[in-house]
Amino acid sequence: MKAAVLAVQGDFIEHENMLRRLGVETMEIRQSADLSEPFDALVLPGGESTVQGKLLNELDLMKPLHDKIAAGLPTLATCAGLILLAEHIENDGSYLGTLPVTVRRNAYGRQLGSFYTESQWQGIGKIPMTFIRAPFITAADPTIVRATVDDHIVGVTYRNQIALSFHPELNDDLRIYEQFIKMADRN
Ligand code: GLN
Repeated sequence: MKAAVLAVQGDFIEHENMLRRLGVETMEIRQSADLSEPFDALVLPGGESTVQGKLLNELDLMKPLHDKIAAGLPTLATCAGLILLAEHIENDGSYLGTLPVTVRRNAYGRQLGSFYTESQWQGIGKIPMTFIRAPFITAADPTIVRATVDDHIVGVTYRNQIALSFHPELNDDLRIYEQFIKMADRN
């Protein structure tokens, strides 16, 4: 299996390291020419969603990535990646818009918004969760919700998309990636 990691901004290297630990081959998407190489799954890393969104438009990556995800490409999105996927963003316009949720950017506040906790992910168990100026989901169909922290939705799985508010690439726990790989294998 080969996973492509969006590498225009943010902490894409950390995702590549996690995937490689599980024997997954990785490649980086930096420009539209990179899309001609075949891949089985996509990771949208954390970072700054406004910058990533602007670069996706400037690099002509927005529509091709949208079309691939909408067509069923297994996709793991974290933090800014979740914002890129969301159909609605309370405090911004939308980007890829393939995930039927509403998110609030910087939902925990800008400066004091970074923290660590552990919480249940449905079907996995308790997992470490590192939040960095994170968004959370303010509206989603209850059937797609997989994790909450203090009554806020921080993880969803919808069809081919797994999206989380936090950063699994920053903790030594591979279980979210294992779920992702299972999903991609089924594909
Ligand atoms: N606050 C960032 C944004 O709005 C997301 C932060 C992150 O990815 N760690 O894009």
